[in-house]
Amino acid sequence: MNASLDHGWSDRGFLLCIINKRVIILPMKNFHIVTIFPEVFETYINTSMMWRAQKEKKVKFNFYNPRDFTKNKHNKVDDKPYGGGPGMVMTAQPILDAVKKALLKVKSQKSQVKIFIFSPSGKKFTNATARGLANKYDHIVLICGRYEGVDARVKKILKAEELSIGDYVLTGGEIPAMVVLDAVSRQIEGVLGNDESLEEKRAASSELYTRPEIIIFNKKSYRVPKVLLGGHHAKIEAWRTKKQKGK
Ligand code: SAH
Repeated sequence: MNASLDHGWSDRGFLLCIINKRVIILPMKNFHIVTIFPEVFETYINTSMMWRAQKEKKVKFNFYNPRDFTKNKHNKVDDKPYGGGPGMVMTAQPILDAVKKALLKVKSQKSQVKIFIFSPSGKKFTNATARGLANKYDHIVLICGRYEGVDARVKKILKAEELSIGDYVLTGGEIPAMVVLDAVSRQIEGVLGNDESLEEKRAASSELYTRPEIIIFNKKSYRVPKVLLGGHHAKIEAWRTKKQKGK
């Protein structure tokens, strides 16, 4: 197609595309990440599929550092827990102000907004959650906890949901946020290239082989299963399905 193409962001976080002098509005997924360590994300989101998704304006990652919203002299974002106990708790005000800024332009629109606070005791994040988020929401806010967690009033005020990525305790919500960014981005239509595909849309196999056909390691040879070399697609699919069920 020989189309003249230009684009820019609207206030709503939509992508305005001008194709052959016609304005087209494309939906785009806006992620708002609240974290005191935004630099942790840099390499991961600027590599591979996530880099491409940003370049093609399918997703936008916005970062808000609670430290930039503090009102105290030393930009402190934590304090001692009421009632005693170990460690420190993230204070509510800088996080609330960060989220307020993130949603400033969104509030008046009819955009679908979802707010999460990461917590090891939250609802478990699954691929179904990722698919639901990709289909339903225009703006997803991810609040990354640190220390012992976040003042409980943040959840109440923002009507946020607690989200866990698994039954283990990490040091902060940054890795969980990257997990969500990755898993949701790949569910957005057109994000994955031809070489890649969504697991649920094909007979997925976790037992994969590539060249060479024979690997010799410590004098022992390891061959690719014969069925994969024959080019018989039905047989290959059947073998893959069997492998999958055997798990
Ligand atoms: N004291 C807390 C643990 C805090 S861990 C407790 O026992 O529940 C510090 C932060 O890391 C949390 O606030 C949360 O944002 C993040 N975090 C740690 N493990 C996580 C997990 N499995 N899933 C999601 N977030 C997690």
